[in-house]
Amino acid sequence: MKKIIALLLTALILLTGCGSKNVVSDIPLNMVDDRYNTYYEIFVYSFCDSDGDRVGDLQGVISKLDYLNDGDDTTDEDLGIDAIWLMPIMPSSSYHKYDVEDYYNIDEKYGTLEDFDELIAECDARGIDVIIDLVINHSSGKHPWFLEAERYINECVKEGKEPDASECKYFDYYHFSKKLESGYTGLGNGWYYEAQFTANMPDLNLANPDVRAEIEDIVKFWFDRGVAGFRLDAVKEFYTGNNALNVETLEWFSDMVTAIKPDAYMVGECWTGAATYLQYYESGITSLFDYENAQAEGYMVKAAKNGYKAYTARDYSLRTVQIQQEILANNPEGINATFLSNHDNDRAAGYFSGENGVHELKMAAALNLLNWGNAFIYYGEEVGMKGSGTDPNRRAPMYWSADSREAGMTNGPSDMKGVTQKYDSVTDQLKDSNSILSFYRSLIRFRNQNPEIARGEITAYTDLGHDKVSVTKRTWEGSEVLVLINTSNEAEELDLSSITVNGKNISEAEVRGWLYADMDTKKYETGKIKGDTVKMPAFSIVILK
Ligand code: CA
Repeated sequence: MKKIIALLLTALILLTGCGSKNVVSDIPLNMVDDRYNTYYEIFVYSFCDSDGDRVGDLQGVISKLDYLNDGDDTTDEDLGIDAIWLMPIMPSSSYHKYDVEDYYNIDEKYGTLEDFDELIAECDARGIDVIIDLVINHSSGKHPWFLEAERYINECVKEGKEPDASECKYFDYYHFSKKLESGYTGLGNGWYYEAQFTANMPDLNLANPDVRAEIEDIVKFWFDRGVAGFRLDAVKEFYTGNNALNVETLEWFSDMVTAIKPDAYMVGECWTGAATYLQYYESGITSLFDYENAQAEGYMVKAAKNGYKAYTARDYSLRTVQIQQEILANNPEGINATFLSNHDNDRAAGYFSGENGVHELKMAAALNLLNWGNAFIYYGEEVGMKGSGTDPNRRAPMYWSADSREAGMTNGPSDMKGVTQKYDSVTDQLKDSNSILSFYRSLIRFRNQNPEIARGEITAYTDLGHDKVSVTKRTWEGSEVLVLINTSNEAEELDLSSITVNGKNISEAEVRGWLYADMDTKKYETGKIKGDTVKMPAFSIVILK
């Protein structure tokens, strides 16, 4: 009986395999060991639970590494990402852990430093880099530094006496004032302290050499444990309202980090418009998140929506050229960091609706993952997880299974309310060659087969008469690939006789792969290349070399 079931399963897999024309599996991966990666952002709390307390933990992450990247380049069952960003893992009383109480340990709900070492070793074995969230704009109000400073003020700073940092150095670790200033919170004793986010997140005094020495020790500690770099929280709030000082502070950080680990990767959260975050590249930091490109109103989503006429895939391709030039002008080693959404934004699946919603979602993912730079995927995005309105809702349990009782499933944040999933779970999408997950795997495979995509200098072709098609060439180390993304809900026939790739006409170019977001509908047809004309079905991608 078991044998028959196995045979039936094999037949089923073969049958679905025949229907799937998406993945070009026989082109080997070409993984380059540099700072260009496909990142996967993990909120450990909601990702995977290993010990039955329904809170995610590091052992849970380890148990899912094969899903993310099994370390075997000849298989294509894994997602294929090659870097992980762990949201804060250090001890903290909050569920999100952006208020750090100890910079040298792992939150006890998440595990131990030994678990972290094991995670790094397991990631190393799979070629996965790990960066961790580093929150230096503020500490927790429960951090011993702050508690000591507060004790000093309460016990030693009496009426008429000025505080003296030589009596308590921690007084100068923060910004205390007798005046209530903007962004300040009261201690209840006539003193105030800067806390731009919440009362329990006192802003650190990053100009203080002692604080900088503490941060350097923290950085060394985590490099010694094997991290590849850091995601820097809230760089715009280092000195709220003072970009010049923020850039200066980041420059100190970047120089300090690079002196310790020359190939470290650093990505900063500067949540504002590109005109501002482009300036921050002057600090030498590798990446800043491309917020203008992200979120519901971002360029990628606008370009992917057929109902949105004012911004198209053609405009988007032009924008990728501009932002690449601007980043590299400010930092020749700079790498763009693009993403659709993260833990602070409504999830991307909710940006799209209607009969083409899922196809448009896939095309937005394509614009992200086939972009120049490091593309970030927020956990669950690869299955179209939903979650919006509040932060807890945006950080819902990873949707491994439709059965919430299944091992590994978490409860998620306690304030999460009314999150229902629209698309299938990981378990179900793994079986479906037309699923969002399968599409993501193929997109990442394209990235891994063609290093030119993430690394190359971009040329955009914008006078071909097809607004809904992004046509760009990527040139890297003398090799070119042409990336064509048809975001339109209609087939497009492109005359590419004016374009060559690696000195060849389109008719002679190597097809690196076709990818279709809409392969199961009646509209589905295979893309064709006739001479120098490329016929692209609705919602399709082709890579030529
Ligand atoms: Ca647990």
